[in-house]
Amino acid sequence: MKKRIIVNIFVLSLFLVGTSLLYAGTKHSHEANVIKVDKDGNKIALCGCGHEVKVTSSTAKVVDGDDTYYVCSDKCQAALSQNLNKMKPALQLKVEKAKVKAGTMGNVYHVGEDGALTAKCACGMDVKVTDKTISRTLNGEKYYLCSDGCAAQFDKNPAKVAEMAKKKMKKKSM
Ligand SMILES: [Zn+2]
Ligand SMILES: [Zn+2]
Repeated sequence: MKKRIIVNIFVLSLFLVGTSLLYAGTKHSHEANVIKVDKDGNKIALCGCGHEVKVTSSTAKVVDGDDTYYVCSDKCQAALSQNLNKMKPALQLKVEKAKVKAGTMGNVYHVGEDGALTAKCACGMDVKVTDKTISRTLNGEKYYLCSDGCAAQFDKNPAKVAEMAKKKMKKKSM
């Protein structure tokens, strides 16, 4: 009897290891420095050197865990892969600023030098983004909302509320 339980535990743990490996294998990678999609549907990434790179299957890249960074040249690939941890914060800041400029950063309209994000809720309120800020994702872009009420509006009609937020952002920047 005891032996059977042990065998069952063994089989169960094999199963658990197997499914977690499978899960790890199918995990999505995150294209960390893609800033926009051009009119032909090509993804455009921002290289660490500041050049924009069209992403194709042959574009050079640096992979860091789940994050993929596309680079413009072998030189930039070597520089980034050797100094990734050092370069990452500055590159992330550049990428976020480029995304705001390209209009692909949801309703974030300002990126501070310290990386602090400010968004425009659909209701017109400024939202200082923290870990606790309510957010929703639409078409891969993140929208930050000032309250549960505005989040509920977003859930009812995501496309419309996202568009409202983007319109309010434009007014702000004029
Ligand atoms: Zn480069
Ligand atoms: Zn709001």
